[in-house]
Amino acid sequence: MGKSCQFYADIMAMQNEVTGSCNLVIVKFPNGETVRFVVDCGLFQEREYEELNSVLPFNAENVDFCLVTHVHVDHIGRLPYMVRNGFFRPIYSTETTCKLLPLALNDCFKVLSSVSKRKNSTPLYSEKDVERTLGLLKSCRYNETVQVHENIKVTFFNNGHLLGAALILVQISYHGYEDINLLFTGDYNNKNIFFDVNPIPPRILELRLTVVQEATYGYMNSSEITKCFRNNIIKCLNNDGTVLALVFSLGRAQEILYELKTMQEEGKLDVQIPIYFDGKLAIKYTDLYIKDGLDIKPEMRDFLPENLAFVDKVSRRSVLEDTGKKVILTTSGMGSYGPAQAYIPEYISRKNALIQFTGYTAEGTLGNRLKNAEFGEMVEVGGLIVKKKADVEYTTEFSAHAKADEMIDFLKQFSNLRLVLVNHGEIKTKKIFAERIIKEVDAKRVGLLGREYFFRVDPYGLVKTLSTKFQ
Ligand SMILES: [Zn+2]
Repeated sequence: MGKSCQFYADIMAMQNEVTGSCNLVIVKFPNGETVRFVVDCGLFQEREYEELNSVLPFNAENVDFCLVTHVHVDHIGRLPYMVRNGFFRPIYSTETTCKLLPLALNDCFKVLSSVSKRKNSTPLYSEKDVERTLGLLKSCRYNETVQVHENIKVTFFNNGHLLGAALILVQISYHGYEDINLLFTGDYNNKNIFFDVNPIPPRILELRLTVVQEATYGYMNSSEITKCFRNNIIKCLNNDGTVLALVFSLGRAQEILYELKTMQEEGKLDVQIPIYFDGKLAIKYTDLYIKDGLDIKPEMRDFLPENLAFVDKVSRRSVLEDTGKKVILTTSGMGSYGPAQAYIPEYISRKNALIQFTGYTAEGTLGNRLKNAEFGEMVEVGGLIVKKKADVEYTTEFSAHAKADEMIDFLKQFSNLRLVLVNHGEIKTKKIFAERIIKEVDAKRVGLLGREYFFRVDPYGLVKTLSTKFQ
């Protein structure tokens, strides 16, 4: 153990809660060399943390490489900001993530510039920064080990969270020492309707390991999910109403399209009822799903329902004016951006409308605010004060995150868990889930990863925690 203190990695997170995912790892080698890398660099989306977006509590110029778990904005939205601040080295991710990143980052840039125009401030980064970021991408195949530094290798494993998503294993070695093995789950799901999630190879399960584990749904079990989407839709349409389903552009939008197609095939949704799909980026992603195939299994490539119309800015007016029963799918998933800003004010005060959220709504977003408003209460939507009369419903049945019991099962697969660092969850959720890990998983130590501490690990696990300077 004596010599292990010269060989360690310090792990810290830039965020305490769900969005703004970014982990910094500083590796110290026995020869005195230091290697720094970042896992994800996402935007803060909760309004109360927005000002943190312009704070990078490390020197981007000194970062040796970057790893990306998946293409969601809260994991990639600040990569160009890192580049703007001097980062110029490789960004490794899966082949599919590399194909999706140009659309994701360019859209993120557009959203940020329209927000800054409204606030009369300067955007975090420019289109040029996005271009430079894309130029740094190095695509990796699942299960293939890539040497990213002479002593550091990285392997991306399949993850059901999203097309292209990965669990990332980082193996740090030094002559004469045992390896330091770190596994980052990013956002994790054990299944996906569009592709098969392969099991983790047995040789990985036996490694002496530190896992950085997400905890978004660490407070609930999969058995607590109630499926209500279909019934809500049928009920609304039976009353000749309009269904407004809020979807995320990537993953959720395509899954809901498939759900509607299945309902049509099972005779639960009349094919005569028009389905409108509005959201530039969501339509572009859908096009990529169909044309490129990405990692989608062949039987899932044909996922579009019948009677589907793509809507743009021009045709949106006629959709809004149409009083007949219909289903509208639109973005953003939390309601705060995109065409949702045009549809929600219109339908929130209609009695026979259903506003159906299909995923997580972060605190401070419109979706979250509507949750807390009573029927008949006045709510502010895009500057307008309107009376909430529509049904506003939420479901976790389409979640792209594993639930607590599934995450526990995931962790139980590893036979030599030295440390589990719980991140990506509301603070109280992370605590609940950490306690559950202590009770149910054979892990030596469990910590809460956040802005307050960094965790020093050596080949045998946790050495100590140190308080950070950027609280
Ligand atoms: Zn995600």
